[in-house]
Amino acid sequence: MSILSNFFGLFSHDIGIDLGTANTLVYVAGRGIVMNEPSVVAINKRNDQITAIGNDARKMVGRTPAHIVAIRPLVDGVISDFEVTEQMLRYFIQKAHRETFTLFPRPRVVVGIPSGVTEVERRAVEEAAANAGARQTFLIEEPMAAAIGARLPVQEASGSMIVDIGGGTTEVAIISLGGIVISRSLRIAGDELNRDIIDYARSEFNLLVGERTAEDVKIAIGSAYPLKEPKQATLRGRDLITGLPKEVQVSDEQVREALAKSIQTLVNHIKGAIEETPPEIVGDIMKRGITLAGGGALLRGLDRLLAEQTQMPVQVAEDPLTCVVRGTGKVLEELDELKTVLVSGSFEKTPH
Ligand code: ADP
Ligand code: MG
Repeated sequence: MSILSNFFGLFSHDIGIDLGTANTLVYVAGRGIVMNEPSVVAINKRNDQITAIGNDARKMVGRTPAHIVAIRPLVDGVISDFEVTEQMLRYFIQKAHRETFTLFPRPRVVVGIPSGVTEVERRAVEEAAANAGARQTFLIEEPMAAAIGARLPVQEASGSMIVDIGGGTTEVAIISLGGIVISRSLRIAGDELNRDIIDYARSEFNLLVGERTAEDVKIAIGSAYPLKEPKQATLRGRDLITGLPKEVQVSDEQVREALAKSIQTLVNHIKGAIEETPPEIVGDIMKRGITLAGGGALLRGLDRLLAEQTQMPVQVAEDPLTCVVRGTGKVLEELDELKTVLVSGSFEKTPH
């Protein structure tokens, strides 16, 4: 590499994107995380126009007039709505590019995608990024990006295990020698835990609560393992019998009971992945431990419960909500060394 291309490499403001089911984060090379917004798009059904994206759209969830719908195009980890996903990607790339220097050439973009997306979905993301202004697009599987963001030695001949618990999906992956040895995806993650709290409020208290309320309570007092100090929170909603507003105090124990079944399914899923893992790699993981990433990793006591049930050390990655995007950023900044971890080469719309 010449000095000149190194210079441009460093200052080209290339972009790394974590296109999550719940949150989209953008990393600009040399600067760090510049955007962190919910993966939500509000659409006016009368003319099919997008009225808001990200933070602005999220504020509308549950409060929209009948003709406006707020959707999460990536929910469940698959790209359920290609056109909307493309628009969202364009919004993030253009905003990040505009906020840096528009005089710079169009950016190279690394996008984290769920492992196990189909070839068609991959092409769709590459094309969306190209249409949104990317000069060159690289794709990386999210568990790989999460592992790199969590500073696991992904390229060594030694196994690492990463569990990324997002909004729509939990991705479990065993990584060694720069590749994913085993990966499993489960549609039980943060959203499902919110639904568990909604179901619990309905069956225990005849109380209808919204998703935001359920999530707030989960974050405030939710846990997977008994807490040292008891905690309480208020569930506010509508009484299903009288139709009037009502609030109920809940304890950490009640919320834990509400979440228990999903948490156990999640733990069993992780145990299943370990059972499939070659014994040498299990040995590596016993030494290094299981690393938790994604917002769901912040659930109190999940690390402890998992450690007990797997007999393995478990640690929560530093700043688990940003692991994937920091991983994409590291790949951009060290493209030569880390190229081998990418899923596909590059998609170039125009020669340069
Ligand atoms: P995605 O990658 O799918 O966009 P994220 O990694 O951003 O998902 O995680 C979002 C999920 O993490 C949401 O379901 C959110 O409720 C959950 N979450 C965030 N903070 C916490 C917390 N402190 N405790 C439990 N769950 C949390
Ligand atoms: Mg994620």
